[in-house]
Amino acid sequence: MNNQKSSIKNYQSFLLENIGQLTTFNPDSGEVETTSNTSLCIEDGIIVENVSGESVDCSGCLVTPGFVDPHTHPVFKDLRIDEVAMRKAGATYEEIAAKGGGINSSINGVRNASEDELIELVSKRMDQFLKMGTTTIECKTGYGLNTEAELKSLKVIHEVNKHHEIDMIPTFLGAHAFPPEFADNHDSYVDLLCNEMIPAVAEQGIAVFCDVFCENGYFNVGQSRRILDTAKEHGLIPRLHADEFEDSGAAELAADVGAISADHLMAVSEVGMQKMADKNITATLLPGTTFFLDKDTYAPAQTLKEMGIDIALATDFNPGSCHIQSMPFIMHLAIKHMGMTVEQAFASSTYFSVKALNLEHEVGSLTTGRKADIIVWDVEKLEDIPFHNSELPIKMIFKNGKAIDS
Ligand SMILES: [Zn+2]
Repeated sequence: MNNQKSSIKNYQSFLLENIGQLTTFNPDSGEVETTSNTSLCIEDGIIVENVSGESVDCSGCLVTPGFVDPHTHPVFKDLRIDEVAMRKAGATYEEIAAKGGGINSSINGVRNASEDELIELVSKRMDQFLKMGTTTIECKTGYGLNTEAELKSLKVIHEVNKHHEIDMIPTFLGAHAFPPEFADNHDSYVDLLCNEMIPAVAEQGIAVFCDVFCENGYFNVGQSRRILDTAKEHGLIPRLHADEFEDSGAAELAADVGAISADHLMAVSEVGMQKMADKNITATLLPGTTFFLDKDTYAPAQTLKEMGIDIALATDFNPGSCHIQSMPFIMHLAIKHMGMTVEQAFASSTYFSVKALNLEHEVGSLTTGRKADIIVWDVEKLEDIPFHNSELPIKMIFKNGKAIDS
């Protein structure tokens, strides 16, 4: 990053000028639009029509909105790196779990870690997301799976968010899996979620969304419906992990409960897609997980699009099945494996991903009145972004109009 940035760090008002191409989804036209040889005015962290103040030279480079990542699981102790080799050697999910790996090892990690320890780890993970151009991120709990550890996880998200430049949107995912103490008594865990955990989460007042891992063998449709209905009664907005491994009727449930988004959808049914289309439910697709697990079952992006469903993209960053934090790499996978165009992948990583967080009137596009969450790239055009898979060609990042150090 250049030196110019540090001198404009605290500017209230400034002009980004000499922009070669300004590319953004335009919510009014419904298209990705590019304006050449232009400038952008920022006042008090917001994009405005006109401004007087210092100017920042973009040297003819590309300018886009910051990325929005609407599905991550960042509150954990350790990445489960050993499991990559175990899977390669042919170990099944059950065999990995029997050796003390899998989600239970992440549960022990979060339950045993102090709040400060987790704050430090999550903060470092957020540094990395921001460095890669992600300026707004959804963050799920889901490795505590008891009232105390889930509330601690939400507190960790809240504390990091208070001090970090990135905007973190908190989701309660107490229904991520059945914790070991409820392995033989699933309905009792659902009782605990509905009678104790959700009311406690609502009272704590940090979470915006409530998510459920709805899948045969995990939380079935009946259990998921009960959890999400309870969450709604407590003011939380429902979202779902839906039909990842097989068609479990989760997309239909997403439509029934009015979820803001149904995520994964690799095995979604025709009926499920139709119901999502009817109820205008966003599909959040996570090609990084399919890639990371060496599978070839990518979600049916083309069919979803043809049915008129909005598609968001996210990393699904988590300790086990996907360590990817880069939205440009997710765009790359969406283009390569799901038949999306560069423009579609870009719109799905900015505007539609923020729509899956209910914040499309605040961020996700560079239009007047929205927050100045901006990436100044070291490339000239949008097509260059998804094909830089190691160091990202980013010159400057602005979050709420403030230049970010990296
Ligand atoms: Zn997930």
